[in-house]
Amino acid sequence: MLERGREWQPKDYPRAPGDAWLWDDRRPEKRNGWIDLRYFGDMTVVQGAAVGGGSLIYANISVEAKPFVFDEGWPAEITGQMLKPHYETVGQMLNVQELPDNQLTERFKVVRDGAQALGYADRFRKLPMAVTFDKDWHYGLEDAHANRHSRSWTNAQGRRQGTCVHCGNCDIGCQVGAKNTLDLNYLAAARDAGAEIRPNHVVRSLRPVDGGGYVVGFDRIEDERLIPGNVTADRVVLAAGSLGTTELLLRCRSEHRTLNNLSDRLGYGWCSNGDFLTPAVYPGRRISPTRGPTITCAIDFLDGSQNGNRFFVEDGGFPDVLGNTMAKATRTAAQASGHLGKLFAHAGKLAGNRDPLDCIMPWFGQAVDASDGRMHLARPWWNPLARTSLRLDWRIARSESVISAMVAMHKRLSQATGGTPVEPLYWRWFRDLITPHPLGGCAMADDPRRGVVDGKGRVHGHPDLYVADGSIFPRAIGLNPSRTIAALAEHIAGAIATE
Ligand SMILES: Cc1cc2nc3c(=O)[nH]c(=O)nc-3n(C[C@H](O)[C@H](O)[C@H](O)COP(=O)(O)OP(=O)(O)OC[C@H]3O[C@@H](n4cnc5c(N)ncnc54)[C@H](O)[C@@H]3O)c2cc1C
Ligand code: SF4
Repeated sequence: MLERGREWQPKDYPRAPGDAWLWDDRRPEKRNGWIDLRYFGDMTVVQGAAVGGGSLIYANISVEAKPFVFDEGWPAEITGQMLKPHYETVGQMLNVQELPDNQLTERFKVVRDGAQALGYADRFRKLPMAVTFDKDWHYGLEDAHANRHSRSWTNAQGRRQGTCVHCGNCDIGCQVGAKNTLDLNYLAAARDAGAEIRPNHVVRSLRPVDGGGYVVGFDRIEDERLIPGNVTADRVVLAAGSLGTTELLLRCRSEHRTLNNLSDRLGYGWCSNGDFLTPAVYPGRRISPTRGPTITCAIDFLDGSQNGNRFFVEDGGFPDVLGNTMAKATRTAAQASGHLGKLFAHAGKLAGNRDPLDCIMPWFGQAVDASDGRMHLARPWWNPLARTSLRLDWRIARSESVISAMVAMHKRLSQATGGTPVEPLYWRWFRDLITPHPLGGCAMADDPRRGVVDGKGRVHGHPDLYVADGSIFPRAIGLNPSRTIAALAEHIAGAIATE
């Protein structure tokens, strides 16, 4: 397995401002942190760059798509029923569980209160999470979020993990190993079965070999340099995500000219999965958004009951970056000097004991948007000699009504629970969006005139080449996508094994 990002250990996770947070697509040899942030004007995309992909920095929600999603636009063999056993396998591999009743977060209670106040109690539910909880942990413990309250255990793949202490760091990596990230389960199992995982390998090209198979060209990152190399394989499975796989195939078609039979639909049908976050201020209520797992529950409007708009409201949280920086400084100073260590330990404790954003509630959610974005390669108009880069053409027009419906619901829920919603200015003024859920670009379809891969992930026109990631979604699913991506990957892996 060739992975562009690093292989991370919890002790090395970025915490302080100078740490390796960001991945720079133009200079990966210099900046190879684990968050790849792409700005496309109207749309900004956030994605992972690491062994384990987005799972290292995602919010752990591992929820099945609603069966209606597969009624339209997917190959005939992809149905909710067909995927059901694969969803279950993924759930077991990721040790998926719900928030225990004795560990409800304040955000969970606000969402539940909102659902009750507006008459939507029957739509409210806990969400399945790829997190391991200790039923004996609770908010009443002394220094409850301290790492020492995490219990060590060994997972089914023989890897040591911990249990959740509700520290709120899910989106910047779990330092106690309570998140059941892919490096600890699927990739651990692959390794034990003989797979070799090579981090710091940026795949650049694919070339078919006479008689079958492909030469995969890459740049290896070493000592701030890119060292070219290649490897040959009988079969290649692309899993570089919606942007990564689509860009690679676009380059192979139009620049390397090695994959000439790719579908004309390559790059089309991209979506942001309707992601949106509305903060609300609660002067009289302690919300503590930086405490507890990032997302825990939802109110489900995916049935289209809101004027045909299908969306899924969730709680959202974010890490206490200041507290984490102080904690890291405390550890570093304690190692360096006794007096300085004591000073930092005191300051760190103060920072760790309070939540600086106590009264903010991030209302989050996804929606079934229009899925009408298009990725392509282009040069800046002022420099015809420049290297091409990935572009995204995306317009709000056909997705505006569903996003507006979700924002309106966020506002109603805030007001019903004593909060004042604050519509983000980038939305109010520009209708711009930010998404951690990029999907599409290499859509599945039985017919190459409508999509890039078939119902088994096989690239139309290029034998023994597969895609198994979020790029194969032909349309938005309106809730967190990773469980469906993994279920589709299980289906594709099964088909390859059968072949
Ligand atoms: C902050 C955040 C929170 C999220 N929360 C949730 C959540 O709670 N639940 C949920 O379901 N989803 C969540 N998501 C989305 C989820 O992480 C993604 O949908 C999922 O990881 C996508 O899986 P993928 O296999 O398509 O791609 P990825 O997980 O992105 O994996 C692609 C991998 O390919 C690598 N790669 C890319 N290009 C190359 C190349 N050229 N050469 C070599 N390697 C390459 C990347 O580094 C990456 O490791 C979240 C995402 C973010 C950023
Ligand atoms: S809340 Fe903290 S301990 Fe729990 S899963 Fe998230 S990062 Fe790990």
